[in-house]
Amino acid sequence: MNLGRAVHFLKLLRTECPGGLGSAARTGPVWRGREQCDANHDILGVVMATDKTFYLETFGCQMNAHDSEKVIGTLQHEGYRQVETEEDAGLILYNTCSIRDKAEQKVFNRLNDYKKLHKAGKRFAVLGCVAQQEGEKIFERAPYVSLVSGSASYRKLPDMLIRLEAGETRITGLDDRQTEETFETEFTSRQNPYRGYITIIEGCDKFCAYCVVPYTRGKERSRTSTSVLAEARSIADQGYTEIQLLGQNVNSYRDPEGKRSFAELLAAVGEVGGIRRVRFTTSHPRDFTRDIVEVIDQVPTLCDHVHLPVQSGSARVLKLMAREYTPEWYLERISWIKAARRPISISTDIIVGFPGETQDDFIRTMDLLAQVEFDCVYGFKYSARPNTPSLTMIDSISEADKSARLQVLLDRQREIQRINYAKHLGQIMEVMVEGANPARGQIVGRSSQNKPVNFTCGQPILPAPGSYMQVKIIGTHPNSLVGENV
Ligand code: SAM
Ligand code: SF4
Repeated sequence: MNLGRAVHFLKLLRTECPGGLGSAARTGPVWRGREQCDANHDILGVVMATDKTFYLETFGCQMNAHDSEKVIGTLQHEGYRQVETEEDAGLILYNTCSIRDKAEQKVFNRLNDYKKLHKAGKRFAVLGCVAQQEGEKIFERAPYVSLVSGSASYRKLPDMLIRLEAGETRITGLDDRQTEETFETEFTSRQNPYRGYITIIEGCDKFCAYCVVPYTRGKERSRTSTSVLAEARSIADQGYTEIQLLGQNVNSYRDPEGKRSFAELLAAVGEVGGIRRVRFTTSHPRDFTRDIVEVIDQVPTLCDHVHLPVQSGSARVLKLMAREYTPEWYLERISWIKAARRPISISTDIIVGFPGETQDDFIRTMDLLAQVEFDCVYGFKYSARPNTPSLTMIDSISEADKSARLQVLLDRQREIQRINYAKHLGQIMEVMVEGANPARGQIVGRSSQNKPVNFTCGQPILPAPGSYMQVKIIGTHPNSLVGENV
């Protein structure tokens, strides 16, 4: 684990955000990764490319970033070597996200930027949600693409690679959305230098009216807790001290062996030797049970943070969204979290401008915001997605109105966060180092509550990503804390 690996990981991950790219706006921190690629690359690089090299670019959320870690590991096991640029690669893969608008267009633009490389013998593959959503249409729009695969088919990647090497074109992995199997591999190539991701549940069966996930990632299926714990132990053996359990709805987890509930799995992962921090995302309010709060209270390694997307504060809109809970149901769960002995930070996702959302509905969302006083809100303008039920609803709210509502929401949330973050002034907290900001002479890290902490440190040698420091908070902002190592 070193800074070089951290920089490499930042390149892999374009943004760290629960939903991915698109019209997202958030008051929390944003990781910026690889800069926009320059289409006019030096053609000499093309000639240098060798067959069994690959370049992979990831769009979207942590789940996609972790899927990429597994895809990279699989490619490496099949004899491929990862390179830093499209020009140096024989195989170029885009792991895509389609959660919000124009995601597919971004992928086609990227493919278009690099199509000249196809003439130099390079192969292209589109993976992930856009692949599943657009399917074979990708071959029509970008005939130089040879492989299109959704995430439910990744376990077939070794076979698909053999076919690719045999010169086959138009290889697809698109028919596995009803599978009961998960993509488990011992060859994960972990790119994050300080956090080990573990997918515990794949797919989604909730079918919220606006969301593509059930159509792109397929049916909900959980891994056995035995296999999750084996992976947790292996991550700890590799030197990681922080684990993040992943799933579209991580708390909908059902152990196929029937051994452990989600809360029991959390406790078991938290008790793995060497693990100091366990995070989990994303939780769905519908499946959020009280024992999750109880286990956070009991097991010190579980982080003081719950991400619980509410989407709207209006019962009417929640019903239209098919979220299957009311604001009262949501607020009851918030009251459990707030009653915990530990100071559990709460963050959420909110969509504004869902079809038919009135000003009165929006005010109810604003009321809920004031009531809960979240530590971080990821705010999104509604965007119509292919195949989803809300596509047939009349989307009468103009882009300008959606933007205006989002701005009102984010401005109010900023004020809430200003107050929340100011409460940490003078506190001493444990911070895990994630990297450094040399321009500011600061170390960049995160508290157990998932709050970014930028701090100075008297040591001549920079602390390594993944190390822990005691930091006294000497300044606060709405999105971050400022401190000094004590
Ligand atoms: N499973 C999680 C849940 O139900 O809360 C959310 C996962 S989703 C990948 C991440 C976030 O993207 C959602 O919480 C929602 O706020 C946002 N999102 C999903 N579809 C959207 C759409 N069509 N327009 C705008 N935002 C959307
Ligand atoms: Fe999408 Fe709803 Fe499933 Fe979350 S629960 S992934 S928002 S369908």
